[in-house]
Amino acid sequence: MSTILNAKTMNGTLYPTTIPAPDDEIVTPNGTGTVADDDGLPDRFDVAVVGGGLGGLVAAATAAKAGRSVALFEQASGPGGRARTRVEDGYAFNIGPHALYRNMDGLRVLGELGVEPRAVQPGLDGAFLVKAGRLYPLPAGLRSLLTSPLLDWRAKLEIGLFLGTVGKLDPRPLEGLTLRAWVERAVRSPGARQLIEVLIRTGAYADDPEQLSAAAGLRQLKVGFSGALYVHGGWQTMVDDLRARARAFGARIVSGARVAEVELDGSDGPAAARRVRAVRLADGRRFEIGTAVLAVPPHKASALVDGGRQAALADWAERAVPIRAASLDVGLRRLPRPDAWFALGLDRPLYLSVHSRWARLAPEGGALIHVLRYLGPSPSAGAEDERELEGLLDLMQPGWRDEVVARRFMPEITVAGALPSVDWEQREGPHAPFVPGVDGLFVAGDWVGPDGMLADRAIVSGARAGQAAALRPSQAQAARGSDAATLLAMGSA
Ligand SMILES: Cc1cc2nc3c(=O)[nH]c(=O)nc-3n(C[C@H](O)[C@H](O)[C@H](O)COP(=O)(O)OP(=O)(O)OC[C@H]3O[C@@H](n4cnc5c(N)ncnc54)[C@H](O)[C@@H]3O)c2cc1C
Repeated sequence: MSTILNAKTMNGTLYPTTIPAPDDEIVTPNGTGTVADDDGLPDRFDVAVVGGGLGGLVAAATAAKAGRSVALFEQASGPGGRARTRVEDGYAFNIGPHALYRNMDGLRVLGELGVEPRAVQPGLDGAFLVKAGRLYPLPAGLRSLLTSPLLDWRAKLEIGLFLGTVGKLDPRPLEGLTLRAWVERAVRSPGARQLIEVLIRTGAYADDPEQLSAAAGLRQLKVGFSGALYVHGGWQTMVDDLRARARAFGARIVSGARVAEVELDGSDGPAAARRVRAVRLADGRRFEIGTAVLAVPPHKASALVDGGRQAALADWAERAVPIRAASLDVGLRRLPRPDAWFALGLDRPLYLSVHSRWARLAPEGGALIHVLRYLGPSPSAGAEDERELEGLLDLMQPGWRDEVVARRFMPEITVAGALPSVDWEQREGPHAPFVPGVDGLFVAGDWVGPDGMLADRAIVSGARAGQAAALRPSQAQAARGSDAATLLAMGSA
């Protein structure tokens, strides 16, 4: 299951010829675990990390860097979760459009672990707004704003003011307001309101202004304005680097290993007395552990502990409302219209970007395009959504259907485990990696606040969970502690 990209088939020359196939991705004959990290696994660890997405990998690397013995268990054939990249016919497909941002805290966290994504900032030329099935230049600069036929003079003035001051806007006073409530209060022109909501939707991936926290949305927009970054070769390159660093710190990354349960002590005692004891895999293996980091979506985290009855985890699982999208990813032999690279729907929740215009993701002369529909609270419309996404491609890249080499449609994919709604951010969601009521149990992932959104939230919460887990005594120290306690008890007898 290696990801091998041949530089000869990629645009440009900067990208390494191959991403070496890591030895721990070789699945063992019985399909459970992987050779390198699975062989000779000790039966006791300080920290078990459940889930090998960005959150889990960062948690594992952080705890291992701090000197703890760590095993990460990932149910899929390799780590990465939703940050994986599939390479098909030389096209490197992320799971839908993925961008990092220059100012996201997660980049600093990755840097501290020794991971520097190789990425490029896309330009804003060839960018459009779509309204009523027609393309209009995106008002990204003063000239295009002043000449835009989409906005009246009041909207132009308000958008100009907003874009000029957004960098200095403080999101904190907006805690407790939804995006819609804030925009209606702060902006008078309907055209400007609509465009501001579109910009925030693009950063937050959420078409839910009635629920999205204005503070979270504004924070994300500010981070977005620092500059998006498309990763050469896809996000898998970042995942592979992160895994390599985690392993260099001593973490064992075990793929093909589904965790069935995190066992607790004191099941009959008071809630406060409960603590993590062991992790049990679906194949029956069991490991004694000091702490566990659940780096999986909220409903899965809950199902792993106490049969879904652990109070805090069950509450988070019940209240989390995922952010979802429908995504059409296509690899083309050539781009029919070589000057149309980016589009945002003004009256429909749509996105299109030719990621390969900027990052090396397609064979020479080819193009990789991500087209996405932000799904709001209503369910996916399946084939209808696919037709709408194809329609946007028809508009931007007429003739694209004759050039298709590879394509994939995902009708409903989870972008983030929990929408940062006002309720989630203020009261309902986790604001620290700790699981109340269980000693030594932590959570990480893109649903665990309070920092960032999406991958940024996953990475930062992973670091916080890894640090918290590393603060607990190691298994060796705990054993020494209990020996000392035994000696003391014997001495006093
Ligand atoms: C279409 C799309 C576009 C996106 N665009 C962006 C973007 O532009 N910018 C951005 O910042 N973010 C973006 N994201 C979000 C980003 O991909 C995620 O926030 C991030 O990858 C989530 O990481 P995670 O570790 O929280 O979860 P995941 O990646 O979901 O990892 C969880 C892992 O746990 C494993 N697992 C589950 N149960 C078990 C078990 N019982 N035992 C063992 N393993 C288990 C899963 O297999 C998975 O690998 C996008 C996501 C999508 C889908």
